[in-house]
Amino acid sequence: MKCLSKDLNKVNTETPDERVTLSGSAGGPLLVQVVEKKEFKSGYAAIVGAPNVGKSTLLNQILKQKISITAPKPQTTRNRILGILTASGYQIMFVDTPGIHKAQDEFNRGLVATALAALGESDVVVFMIDPEFAYGPINEYIMGNLRRIHTPAILVINKVDTLRNKGDLLPLMQGYGEGFDFKAIIPVSALKGDGVGEILTEVVSLLPEGPQYYPGDSVTDQPERFFAAELIREKIFHLVHQEIPYAVAVTIDRFSEIPEKKLIEIESTINVERESQKAIIIGKGGQMLKEIGKQARIEIETFLGCHIYLGLFVRVQKNWRKDPRALLEFGYRST
Ligand code: GDP
Ligand code: MG
Repeated sequence: MKCLSKDLNKVNTETPDERVTLSGSAGGPLLVQVVEKKEFKSGYAAIVGAPNVGKSTLLNQILKQKISITAPKPQTTRNRILGILTASGYQIMFVDTPGIHKAQDEFNRGLVATALAALGESDVVVFMIDPEFAYGPINEYIMGNLRRIHTPAILVINKVDTLRNKGDLLPLMQGYGEGFDFKAIIPVSALKGDGVGEILTEVVSLLPEGPQYYPGDSVTDQPERFFAAELIREKIFHLVHQEIPYAVAVTIDRFSEIPEKKLIEIESTINVERESQKAIIIGKGGQMLKEIGKQARIEIETFLGCHIYLGLFVRVQKNWRKDPRALLEFGYRST
């Protein structure tokens, strides 16, 4: 699509240390010469932590682009979100994850399993905590996992802009430093961008040598339609109160590119669990749905660099969070 600002997810077939020239004359030997062989580092860095500590905010700040939705509520992130950062000499695949918490039901156990899987498959772990809620069983549980997997980890103490007394940081850093051999402990404000450069420096230093997996301009591996659905879901988190956003799953029914109009037509369904939730999402005279649509459309246009037509529908899919088929259909379970 011409109006898309960039191709988000091409997979690279050429790696910097595998570029070769082939030469040879008819009948003569084929010479294979490596023309470029420099150390390049690459790997997965999982961002893990309790819900609401600022993991998705950090990923967006690192990429200087919003690819992961955020909200002042826990359990906003439901999937593994890949954010690719490429610079001269390295490529980091950051994996944003759902918050690790004591899951009360099957659906939330699935979210936690997604986060733990990302933790296990990473080359570097970025463990994030909120200094206000630094100690407790969740962080203990994550520390236990770090000790078990032996992956190099850094501790990121986020939201330092909210700390009244910066002197509180030192005992926190000491306490955590005694609990695990962190390669670095970095106080940051993901929201303001303070300390983010230090995180990058540490992650790069811990990455193994490896190829460049994605082209330099790739930002993620998910299709555009996934981000359209996520941005709609985020607006619901921001505009609709109480428990309703948790009962929402957004699906994309149609994603049609109309190049001659530089337009993408998107039709999307907001699935809820009950009739009463449907009424709230629609709002009096359709006002709420209109506002969700307006705000989502503006962000999707920024994200895709295109004009967007956005049609929203609301459907009751009874208790979808307990329905394995619905979970599969909505992309929250792989098999
Ligand atoms: P996640 O659940 O860990 O992904 O957390 P989010 O990234 O969704 O952030 C949760 C809330 O914390 C949002 O309201 C963010 O704006 C807020 N937040 C994230 N980082 C910071 C920070 O450095 N300082 C402050 N004051 N708030 C932050
Ligand atoms: Mg998140």
